[in-house]
Amino acid sequence: MIYDELGVPRIINAYGTNTRLSGGLMAPEVLAAMTQAARATIEMHHLQAAASREISKATGAEAGIVTSGASAAVLLGAAACMARLDPGAMNRLPDTRGMPDEFITIRSQRNMYDRALRVAGGRIIEIGIPDRVSGPGVRDAAPWEIADAITDRTAAVYYLAGAQSEPPLPDVVRVARERHIPVLVDAAAQLPPTENLKRFIAEGADLVCYSGGKALGGPQSSGILAGRRDLVSSALAQMLDLDMPEAEFIAPAEFAPLAQMRGLPYHGIGRSCKIGKEEIIGLIVALRRFVADDPMQRSAHWQARLEAVLLAAGHPPNLRLVPDGAKPGLPILEWRLLDAATAQAADARLRAHRPAIHLDSGRIGQGLLAINPIAFDDSDAATLGAAIRAVSVHLGSREPL
Ligand SMILES: *Cc1c(COP(=O)(O)O)cnc(C)c1O
Repeated sequence: MIYDELGVPRIINAYGTNTRLSGGLMAPEVLAAMTQAARATIEMHHLQAAASREISKATGAEAGIVTSGASAAVLLGAAACMARLDPGAMNRLPDTRGMPDEFITIRSQRNMYDRALRVAGGRIIEIGIPDRVSGPGVRDAAPWEIADAITDRTAAVYYLAGAQSEPPLPDVVRVARERHIPVLVDAAAQLPPTENLKRFIAEGADLVCYSGGKALGGPQSSGILAGRRDLVSSALAQMLDLDMPEAEFIAPAEFAPLAQMRGLPYHGIGRSCKIGKEEIIGLIVALRRFVADDPMQRSAHWQARLEAVLLAAGHPPNLRLVPDGAKPGLPILEWRLLDAATAQAADARLRAHRPAIHLDSGRIGQGLLAINPIAFDDSDAATLGAAIRAVSVHLGSREPL
């Protein structure tokens, strides 16, 4: 194993597809397609045209491209909303002189990934008071407040899709459409369920971003930008290497709006989000598999993996199989410890295990740890369960029963 040879410690990742834990595992079929892709060369815009056809089929969007992650998709989507099909504007980004550069953002949806808007040159205009989130009140942003914030500097409304997101996307789309402002949706982590591939486009989003390295099962550094053909084409123009005689570039039908541009831009703001042919192929094959998978079977497989952990752990009463609150079809194991300090001690012991074990510590403050089945292998279940059992025994009477 190459990691052993390089002296890189392997871990059991029961946290989820987190970037710092190197995401998840790829299916052999995805890897085999990537190996084939690496053994031949093509023109990148032809490959992105094929990706567009696949993404359209899966999402219902007019067009799509494969990006180097959901964050790159947000950056490229933002660049598209600002520069549109103007190669001069593309060349100026992240300097936004002469173009709309404001992204209306609901304050309760601010998140660490919205920096991608600013990397492209955008400015975040916050609206609403999230006292629903902070506790003292019941309100969040209202659709009229979005309408109120729209000016001729507005590039787009940015929307973070999530189980808790307010107001509902269709209401946001309605006010944005009235003013011809695009809505850019970050749905990076909204899969499963499979229906969410179509949902946001159906609800009227102009652009939607997904991560390829999360539950989709693609390469860790892949993602999808899907949506309106003119905007997706603009995003592609800002990522492609177009250093060629202008007359030689023939826009594929999937990106027909590029033929209207008065010239080709230089290497754009998205050049730093380069995606390789191998990742594009890997994403396409992973997307096909995800769409074709029976969701019941996918859930059953995850559940069987968790049951193997439970068995090896000796079925302690405080380790329970439950549905993940936010993701339909994803079972998790919830490990309820006495209090936050006990959960922290358990977490630290598992990280000190060899191989190190990482559990989902998102609710550690409530004394809860979770085992997410997405990013570890069936063959790790016994080790994981035995380690949990050993930690339980060690913590002994400090556990609730
Ligand atoms: C994970 C995530 C991203 C980043 O996705 P990558 O594919 O790792 O770039 C962006 N936005 C949200 C909301 C996420 O959860």
